Amino acid sequence: MENLIQKFKFLISHRNNSSYKYVLALSFIFCFKKGKNKYRFDELMRFIIPFYFNMLRYKITEKSSGKQPRVLQNISDYSDKKHLRYLCEDDFIYLLKQNEKLFFACPLSCFENRAVSSFEGGNEFFSYSMKEKHIILSEEFFSLLSDRHARELLKDTVFLSLLKFLEKYNSIPNLYTKLSGSLCKKDLKKYKKLFTDQKSPLFSDACGICGEKIGKDLSIDHFIPFNYVACDEIWNLIAVHKHCNSYKNDRPGDERAYEKLCERNKKLYEITEDNPYFDFLKQELFDKFPTYQSLKKEMDDIYASCKSVGYREFSFRV
Ligand SMILES: [Zn+2]
Repeated sequence: MENLIQKFKFLISHRNNSSYKYVLALSFIFCFKKGKNKYRFDELMRFIIPFYFNMLRYKITEKSSGKQPRVLQNISDYSDKKHLRYLCEDDFIYLLKQNEKLFFACPLSCFENRAVSSFEGGNEFFSYSMKEKHIILSEEFFSLLSDRHARELLKDTVFLSLLKFLEKYNSIPNLYTKLSGSLCKKDLKKYKKLFTDQKSPLFSDACGICGEKIGKDLSIDHFIPFNYVACDEIWNLIAVHKHCNSYKNDRPGDERAYEKLCERNKKLYEITEDNPYFDFLKQELFDKFPTYQSLKKEMDDIYASCKSVGYREFSFRV
């Protein structure tokens, strides 16, 4: 077992000119399910594509100049056409299919230290078939991954090597946090009613940014920018004008506006079960943060860290 860990470490830190091998290794670790030793490519891609979305979202690059690796380039081209934050599950599936073979052709053979990809192969860690589109973990690697502590160790090993690799091309802060974050759905439609229905505790017809009446020009803004939080959670959403939203762009609101947001969120914890939105809020907010104090702590941490990495405040007019 010890021997396999050493071999894994060597393989990961040796001869890398793209992120593929690291990301593939991480996909084994993150997608691992107890008792399951066979993984289809599309199952692993469900980790791999969000990983590259994070690369793109946080402007993390792999080359000091010239072209990015193909998978990253493909995602980038696609999201240029359709704004990144509006990508939905169908896009996700489309991208998975488009990039599957391309992605796996290269790094699978890297695990054997072979430069050219082949259709079938195997090594101490797994065997793979490009035709069947799956990998099967070797017995030894499978039992290593079955151990939670070993998985943690391998994960740290890969991340460390990956960060060393990326540091050569990137000087942005919090690389680890940004890369290890998961991709969330960006479907804000289901939240619209929350801000437009008068029965809702979040109903507001005044723009959260300028204070003027919203009318039909409603847009939902992430108070702390989506590019930083990378998810849609109710506590961070406010109703604003479309034009105010685009003007605010990737900036968090100022301190005074933040206090207002906290006050608003605090009130949500006062609603009772007979409120028509109680179940929705429970599912979307209370289950994760059972008390306002627990939410406030999370909000404070995120707001402070967002600013500490260089996101400049935007002054609200309300
Ligand atoms: Zn406005």
